[in-house]
Amino acid sequence: ELPPVDGDFYDVFETLTPEQKEIQMKVRHFMENEVKPLVNDHWLHDSFPFEIIEKFKKLNVCGVTYEGYGCPGLPFLMEGVLAMEMARVDASVATFFGVQSGLTMGSIYLCGSEAQKEKWLPQLQKFDKIGAFGLTEPEVGSGAAGGLTTTCKKTEGGWILNGQKKWIGNATFADVIIIWARSLDDGEVKGFILEKDNPGFKVEKIRGKMALRIVQNGLITLTDCFISDENKMEHANSFKDTGNVLRMTRAGVAWMATGCARGAYESALAYTKTREQFGKPIASFQMIQGHLVEMLSNLTAMQTMVFRLSEMQDEGILKDEHASLAKVFCTMRTRDIVSRAREVLGGNGILLEYDVARFVADAEAIYSYEGTKEINSLIVGRSITGFSAFV
Ligand code: FAD
Repeated sequence: ELPPVDGDFYDVFETLTPEQKEIQMKVRHFMENEVKPLVNDHWLHDSFPFEIIEKFKKLNVCGVTYEGYGCPGLPFLMEGVLAMEMARVDASVATFFGVQSGLTMGSIYLCGSEAQKEKWLPQLQKFDKIGAFGLTEPEVGSGAAGGLTTTCKKTEGGWILNGQKKWIGNATFADVIIIWARSLDDGEVKGFILEKDNPGFKVEKIRGKMALRIVQNGLITLTDCFISDENKMEHANSFKDTGNVLRMTRAGVAWMATGCARGAYESALAYTKTREQFGKPIASFQMIQGHLVEMLSNLTAMQTMVFRLSEMQDEGILKDEHASLAKVFCTMRTRDIVSRAREVLGGNGILLEYDVARFVADAEAIYSYEGTKEINSLIVGRSITGFSAFV
């Protein structure tokens, strides 16, 4: 009998409490049974499986780390484990969830007033409202800190926003979108909660993506878009506030990369045990085992790294450079792992029905979003040398 397929070689997740393991397994079963059967077809057709929103409602795992507002206040470690479990089956669905639970709810949790938190967080937690996060612009990506061109100007009872936002995940169907804009009054970046029926707001779907095709990314245009004072986030008054949100969510992206790598490794290992050539399972060939062990060693390093990363988050000692290092390392290693998985599957490695092809493509988007390899490397470089090479 062949040994079971499992990507947790060092039993990293055995240290979770029984309650935490129960949540992990609940999400694993949900992803395997309810989500996996849907994803290849939706990936192919560049469409979103809206039926999973109702299922996510029942799962009740959104915003797990926040305290109050209908959220259970679990450790950050659990948010990471959930991101890994989701991406282990599909990185697009994990991204949809990350935008809702991390970027949107996280912005309001960290930057909103008490009234804004009470109004929005319970609705977002229950998926009664869907959220999005608009920072990147057509001409401004890596340089968002100093370069945002979307403007806001104070007017009576609210603010007028003008500009464009590109790549915004969930934006085509979101009810609320966090918009970051530079103030024409004091030059600082401010954060807003935009509601979709707001006049002056337009969104177009971005077509032709070759990665994360299930995620519906939008190009947003704001034309003299009025947002009331009630929807200006009280504590979002400089890019430092945006940075606080990104520090938290970047750790989640490292976990997501780990999940994507784990899904690819487990698919590849299972395949090599059943696929036969020369009258034997290909798993019995030395060069195939070499690939599998390279994959497993990187995956094990990633899992131990993100585990510690979340512990640091829970201890309140996580800094930008810690999250950036994990984002760089995990997304680079994921690219290597998915490409080896694709290799051991031979021709079937490029067929959607074997899942690995989807992991290969999706790893490319995770590699670039929430800060590219270069930008996250420069954040770490600044920390260890004392010299900033980019600001
Ligand atoms: P650019 O900034 O134009 O960079 C191009 C290249 O130049 C990169 O290799 C970069 O590393 C390099 N570079 C830039 N500056 C330097 C420097 N100083 N030194 C060295 N190299 C440098 N954004 C949102 O706001 N909300 C979302 O929901 C969202 N979802 C996304 C989903 C997907 C699928 C993708 C692909 C992107 C998403 N983004 C989102 C945007 C994402 O965060 C940006 O793509 C990312 O920050 C990089 O910006 P850019 O694409 O404009 O690349």
